[in-house]
Parts: sequence; C-alpha cells; structure tokens
Amino acid sequence: MAKPMSESLQRRMNDSEYKNWIKLGQGLKIFNDSIIPLCEVVINDFHEYLKESTTTGKEGESCKCEAGKEPMCGVCMPWKTEILDKSTIKTSEIIWDNIDPKKWPTHMWEVAKTYMNSGLKPGDDYKPDSSSLLNLMLNCKLFPKELTGKRIRKILEIRNKLMHSNMNMSNESFKDFLNHIQSTLDAVCNIYKTDKKFEKYKNETLQYKRDAVKLLKVHLEIIDGKSVEAGYESANDIENGVIKQYFSELKEKLKRMEDKSDENADRLQKTLEDFSKKNDDLERMLKSLISEVIELCKQKAINVSGDNNIVVVGSTNVSITYN
Ligand SMILES: [Zn+2]
Repeated sequence: MAKPMSESLQRRMNDSEYKNWIKLGQGLKIFNDSIIPLCEVVINDFHEYLKESTTTGKEGESCKCEAGKEPMCGVCMPWKTEILDKSTIKTSEIIWDNIDPKKWPTHMWEVAKTYMNSGLKPGDDYKPDSSSLLNLMLNCKLFPKELTGKRIRKILEIRNKLMHSNMNMSNESFKDFLNHIQSTLDAVCNIYKTDKKFEKYKNETLQYKRDAVKLLKVHLEIIDGKSVEAGYESANDIENGVIKQYFSELKEKLKRMEDKSDENADRLQKTLEDFSKKNDDLERMLKSLISEVIELCKQKAINVSGDNNIVVVGSTNVSITYN
C-alpha cells in the first residue's frame, strides 16, 4: 500500500487552491509524458520518408550552410521545401537559430526543431522537453487532427497559467483546465489504441501510456486522500514531483533570460521565499533547487533603485512566458 499523507502535506492540502494547482501540475506531467512516444513516432516516420525521397543535391556537392542560419544551399533546399510544406507557420516565423541544417539527414530532432519554439541550440543533443513538443504538435501538420490547433494551444495556455500563478488555482479555472487535460489525454490514449502506426510498439512503456487516463484518475484520488492504492506513488511523492518540475522549469527559464530583465522576478522571489519558509519539509528535500531559483530571481529582477542606471522597462523587457 502507498504511504498515507504526511501531516505537513495534509495541512497544505487544506488549502483547496493549492491542491488544485498540484492536481493540474500532475495532470500536465502525465500528459507531457504521454505525448513523447507519439512525437517520436511521427517525427521518425517523417525523417525516414525524407531520407528516402529527398535527393541530397548534385553529386559531389556538400552542404555549405551555417548552424543557426536559414539554409540556402543546394543540398538543403529539397529538405527545406519538404519540411516547410508540413509547417503551419510562415517561413518568416521559423526560428532558424534552433537548427543546424547539416544535421537534417542524420538527426530527426534537428528536423523537428524547425517547428519548435525559440531557446534551443543548433546541433545539440536534443532531448524532448514538454514545451517544445507541444509547439511541435501545434506547428507541424503531421499530427492527428484531434491533437492540433486550439486543443494544443489551450494546453500551452494552462501550462503558462500554472507557471505564472502563485502556486494556486481558483476552483473555476481548475474545473475547466482539468476537463481539458483529461479529454486531450483521452485523445492521445485513443490514438495509441487505434492507430496502426503504434501497433509495433507493444512494449510496457506504451501500455503505460495507453492507461494514462486511468493513471491520472487514481493520482487525483490519491491527492484527495481518497485512495492509497498499491503500486502507485504516494501523495507526498506526487507533490514532490510537481514542485520539482515547477522549480526546474523556472530555473531553466530564468537562466535563459538576460540579466536584470524581468519585472516579475522580484515578486516571484518573495513568493518562493515565503513558500519555503512555511514548508520546511519541502525546503529540506528540495533545498538546493529552491535556493538556486531564488538566487536567479535576485539576479534577474529589474533593479530600479540600485546604484546602477535605472533599467528601462520597455521593448527590451522579457517577461517570463512559459510556452
Ligand atoms: Zn546546406
């Protein structure tokens, strides 16, 4: 049997808006986890097709493109044409900074990056992260129609709201967001069950994804203290996972921002300090991660009263957005 809730967690869970936030965080975690094989299969199939059907330029010609720049050479042009043909966004909106076109023939994620958000490095050893996978689904025409457009945009919106909230969520938004996560997760599971492409993936990992809707349902009951089913994570483990994910994503975002560029960082720092003071059990477990994020907030907060010149909040200001 899974462990029952600790006292300090029970105290936190008496705050229904905090509990809403944890539940949605766990919903998104399960959702993000469930789309990884889907994206891998779609991109792998497309990459195989490109390798078979795309001529790689005239004999003896080799790619002359620079990493991070729009490809223009004869070798890359046929690849570029096919890749852009599957894009739902305009060529002018593609983030070429992400891509090393030389790696298109050998690295499938380098192709996928054409449809992703900014902040990736060209030619690096890309590992799927949830934000870029959601952008991939949104911007690439190859995904099943049940998992495109408004539906995925709303998942990104929920993700953004969760990251921007003070670790709480109103009951009204909670119901709407949870319904959306559950129905979209259901659509993902249905594709795994019915689409022939996934038949070859009969392994345990995919079986687990097929059951993701049930998994979320049990996890929500565990968070409510209604279930301590054997074989599942405990409420403490779930909460820990959600918080760890939240702080890790905050850390990555803050690291990518320019110094002294965020007017919200100061407020965020106070919220996080307050949270870790009140919850020393979590502070103990995630001490180094939490203090790293607080330190980054201090570095990135716009200093309007310090010794240096006042930083103008305007077009150069980058606010924290999480999609
Ligand atoms: Zn090239």
